[in-house]
Amino acid sequence: MAKDYYKLLGVEKNATKEDIKKAYKKLAKKYHPDLNKEEGSAEKFKEISEAAAVLGDDQKRQQYDQFGTADFSGFQGGAGGFDFSDFMRGTQGFGFDFDSIFDSFFGGSGMFGGGRRRRGPRRGSDLIYDIEITLKEAAFGAEKHITIPKMERCDECKGKGAKSDSDIITCPECNGAGSVKHTRRTPFGMFQTVSACRTCNGEGTTIKNPCRECHGSGLVEKTKKIKVEIPGGVDDGTRLRISGEGEAGEKAGPSGDLFIRLHVKPSDIFERQGNDLFMEMPVSFATAALGGEIEVPTLDGKVKMKIPTGTQSNTVFRLKGEGIPSLRGYGKGDQKVRIIIDVPTKLTKKQKDLLEEFDKGANKSNKSIFDKIKGSF
Ligand SMILES: [Zn+2]
Ligand SMILES: [Zn+2]
Repeated sequence: MAKDYYKLLGVEKNATKEDIKKAYKKLAKKYHPDLNKEEGSAEKFKEISEAAAVLGDDQKRQQYDQFGTADFSGFQGGAGGFDFSDFMRGTQGFGFDFDSIFDSFFGGSGMFGGGRRRRGPRRGSDLIYDIEITLKEAAFGAEKHITIPKMERCDECKGKGAKSDSDIITCPECNGAGSVKHTRRTPFGMFQTVSACRTCNGEGTTIKNPCRECHGSGLVEKTKKIKVEIPGGVDDGTRLRISGEGEAGEKAGPSGDLFIRLHVKPSDIFERQGNDLFMEMPVSFATAALGGEIEVPTLDGKVKMKIPTGTQSNTVFRLKGEGIPSLRGYGKGDQKVRIIIDVPTKLTKKQKDLLEEFDKGANKSNKSIFDKIKGSF
């Protein structure tokens, strides 16, 4: 069961980031293990921190809202990738600044081990792209070419953000520590507060000559063409992962992944039932009565199908192996064909005479049924 992060923080689904921050701040004060020695408080603190980490990040929150869970096995480093021990060490990577929340209360008390750590490489974001395909493409697979805008590593500076290595210098403000100390007077007493250095954002280094191409970020937006191989047997809602085709990571961090979400257009003829296909096939009254061979459409063409003499309406025949192949590569579904007797709405004089003739001398194969019906009046 997915955790309800909104409930954990006690906020509404449409809560603003500010609401979430406020709610978290309140709960964090209540449950922080340094302040609350009750059993279970650490666990509770972990839960609310995880909730805040997801809901406080626009992208993770969107994923969570969309899928009802942030815990996809596929989404490494996504919302499900929340690492509490990393969080306790004070690593960055969340949508809002936890430091500023904690500075005035816990600064220097050990919460962040004496200040914010240096920002290291960061994994790039995952991307989701929706593709609409036909039922036939879902069954037999397809190759699609998509064009997506995304952040890629800047070629000019190889992602370093500086014109050259010598342009990356030790931050003069913090002397490379990445953090600065302040002494604060608060209602709780005097506190030594350690916070991230504003000049270098806690990195310990600054760039003297930023790369002209990416303005120092190391990333540039590019439009990329990507070939997507859709395997046969996929279904509506299937997600494919293309490793490393998400956004590039900051500071030469690894790229995120690209997820392709498939939407299968409904077919006019077929209804999908698992790997089986179901369809209704109109057959003339004469063919149904006499039996014979009819042509039935399939996903990749048509096949001939024999129907026996005296086939009744609603009889379902099965065409073995004409359904959807299994995504796992073995076996195929069947195509189920329901016969619908096509009763003519217009008749020529001759057809009418012949039918009347037929009815008079009709074989009484269904005699017992007719007798029962008559008897009920
Ligand atoms: Zn600095
Ligand atoms: Zn650059």
